[in-house]
Amino acid sequence: MKVTLQNLTKVYPARDKKSGKEVVAVNDFTFQIPDGKLIGLLGPSGCGKSTTLNLLSGLQTPTSGRIFFGEDDVTDLPAENRGVGLVFQNYALYPHLTVLQNILFPLQNLKGKDKLTKAQMLQKAQEAAKLVQIDTLMDRKPNELSGGQQQRVAIARALVKMPRVLLLDEPLSNLDARLRLQTREELKRIQTETGITTVFVTHDQEEAMSISDMIVVMKDGVIQQIGKPQEVYDEPANLFVAKFLGTPPINVFSGAVKEGRLYIGEAAVLDVP
Ligand code: ADP
Ligand code: MG
Repeated sequence: MKVTLQNLTKVYPARDKKSGKEVVAVNDFTFQIPDGKLIGLLGPSGCGKSTTLNLLSGLQTPTSGRIFFGEDDVTDLPAENRGVGLVFQNYALYPHLTVLQNILFPLQNLKGKDKLTKAQMLQKAQEAAKLVQIDTLMDRKPNELSGGQQQRVAIARALVKMPRVLLLDEPLSNLDARLRLQTREELKRIQTETGITTVFVTHDQEEAMSISDMIVVMKDGVIQQIGKPQEVYDEPANLFVAKFLGTPPINVFSGAVKEGRLYIGEAAVLDVP
């Protein structure tokens, strides 16, 4: 499913009417996500990543701009009718339900022609659980699982309806370092296997670089650069992108251009035609 964001803007009104300023969380965001790709939405905390994702999911309405899934304009469609799967940083499972019941939950609410028989539901839940390798834990409650296992359940629950678009908001941030590495590789595998168009939000440049087909770098609600990970790394569009990507961070020097040459201190280091 191709996803198009067209001049998408979200302005939050000022909290404090007198002194407060409104926040432009997403500013004229235009981008087309190709069908079946995994897009990494990357930027520092507060740059508008979650807001962008919530606009895609329908949890928030844009101030202006349009969103298309394929050729369908979904801007005014409520979240439950968009066919999106959502995974958040905190796993948000139902504590009183077992793994199986958690995964079944989205299927039990299907109405009309989409309604499934019990056997069909069980089969789909089993398939989703297998995909994230928790099919042996189906009878446990969330508090009997590790963080990593809980997040797998959340991913299975998001996948069980085979969403048109999968939206992941910092899904690995609560996992310890080793599990984070492992889970991100698995997410990539699952995404490739299912071919579901996916948006993956993270503030971690290494995470974005390692699993994205394409990266969108954001700052203050504005897209800074869009490109393949290696392109963005090799050819940063501006100093912000250059500084944000790469470990260890790049070195930055102040210099001056004089008579066609770049000087750092007294030394001429580069010809600048
Ligand atoms: P990120 O996910 O990149 O950390 P967010 O999309 O959560 O960023 O937030 C973007 C900006 O919008 C921030 O400045 C944040 O404080 C502001 N913001 C987010 N949600 C609201 C809200 N409901 N009301 C007012 N401001 C908000
Ligand atoms: Mg966020």
